Amino acid sequence: MKKVISVVLSLVMVFGFVLPVFAEEVTDKSCDCGFNPVIYVAALGSGTVYENYGTDEEKALFRPETGPLVAEAVSVILPALPALLAGDYDTFGDALIGFVNSAFGGLALDGDGNSKEGVYAPEEYPETGDHGIEHSFYFGYDFRLDPYTHADRLHKTIQLMKELTGHDKVQLKASSMGGVVTMAYLERYGTDDIETVIFQNCPIQGTAVAGELFCRKFEINKDALVNYALDAIPALEQDFFQGFLYGLATALDDLGVWSTLLTLVDPIVENLLDRVYDEALIPIFGTLPGIWSFVPDEYYEEAKTVMVNEETQAGLIEKLDNYHYNVQAKAPEILREANKTAKIYIVAGYDIQRTPLVSAYMNTSDGTVDTKYASVGAVTADIRSTFPQGYSQAVNDGHNHISPDFCIDASTCALPEQTWFIKDMLHCTTHEGHDKFYEKMLTGDEQFYIDTYEEYPQFMQNNIPDQTFNKVENLSATELFKKQPNFTNFVMMLRSFINVIKSFFAGLFVK
Ligand SMILES: [Zn+2]
Repeated sequence: MKKVISVVLSLVMVFGFVLPVFAEEVTDKSCDCGFNPVIYVAALGSGTVYENYGTDEEKALFRPETGPLVAEAVSVILPALPALLAGDYDTFGDALIGFVNSAFGGLALDGDGNSKEGVYAPEEYPETGDHGIEHSFYFGYDFRLDPYTHADRLHKTIQLMKELTGHDKVQLKASSMGGVVTMAYLERYGTDDIETVIFQNCPIQGTAVAGELFCRKFEINKDALVNYALDAIPALEQDFFQGFLYGLATALDDLGVWSTLLTLVDPIVENLLDRVYDEALIPIFGTLPGIWSFVPDEYYEEAKTVMVNEETQAGLIEKLDNYHYNVQAKAPEILREANKTAKIYIVAGYDIQRTPLVSAYMNTSDGTVDTKYASVGAVTADIRSTFPQGYSQAVNDGHNHISPDFCIDASTCALPEQTWFIKDMLHCTTHEGHDKFYEKMLTGDEQFYIDTYEEYPQFMQNNIPDQTFNKVENLSATELFKKQPNFTNFVMMLRSFINVIKSFFAGLFVK
């Protein structure tokens, strides 16, 4: 009896003593700042992929240092140029493919989608509980691998973040490929730990450039190439330099220089494309689930017949199918489900010329990701054109979802009331205006929508000089072009100068 009493007593003492301390520790750890920590799920290339990491032979495979890479390209390709000029495509092809393999060959994954021994991106985890609008945790990853691999690591990161900060939820801001990782995360783990998700220019449903390249639909279109160069120029943010490059690019176009250059490139493409695919693209990039996650559904099965082998790559194909059919193909359902308990914001850019290497160069995009895929379902008119007259909104939900410039219909989006379109926003290129917009998403307690704030309507015109957004004007592309004061004078001047020279030579030679 005595023994029982003493056990009970000691139990009482232990609990009476320990419990309050334990409880105090818990309250100590939780944070009442009111702002759940932000994890920035970064873009492709966010984690450096090394070969022989930590040894004397350590080499950054991706992204490689530009200097040595260019030096290697020059030293290998330059000596092969005479062969190219002489029409000896085999010799030139050997040099080109040799270079690609030596620079990127180490990235290739095996038949199960696993990396070579010693090739990886070192993993980083949060070490402090710092959080706040200025303190987000940067989540980088090895872009080559199955997005689910990163989703698992993101889950681990989120648990650590919660422990370190004393918050029971986190907020995710995904940029570009970060959206692929985030979608895989939402599919596998749901939103129990998530307050907010921002998708910025993410290939949630892929990007046409990956789909078409993986289907061997390679094409260089001259006009698209020139527009691509011109659309990238405003990102330089230097008026004189911008004006100069813009003038030069359009002037060279007027002179027919681009067309001439492309006729030189044509036979190279014709003679070498198959070899480049068979000896470099397929054995390297075709083995990377990360790149496969960019292949849109409409290309996916065809791309598999081009890029993978069912017998030697069965394990890889299982991973590809798992992401494709359970995440990308189910994106609208995953987003709607997540939105039941978490705030979701989707931002897509439009009206930037997309990569000119594929036949889908007419898709409006942010330069990298097609607007229809980043917005998860918008109907879009071809770049620099509008819907045909009489076009009416695809889904009538009682209010307008067609852009003032009549080229985007957002009514078909997975989440039409919380998807924004920023005209002339170059892929993941932001300014203070974006920061303020995202801050509203991260600091607000409630989900806001396209009609919540007058300054953030569904369609916004990117205003880079003033770091803000304007209303999208109801103007045609040519009218808008004329309104750009930075370029116009310089371009006009250069164009008239070129035209004088052209007519001079025309007069000299033609007559
Ligand atoms: Zn806090």
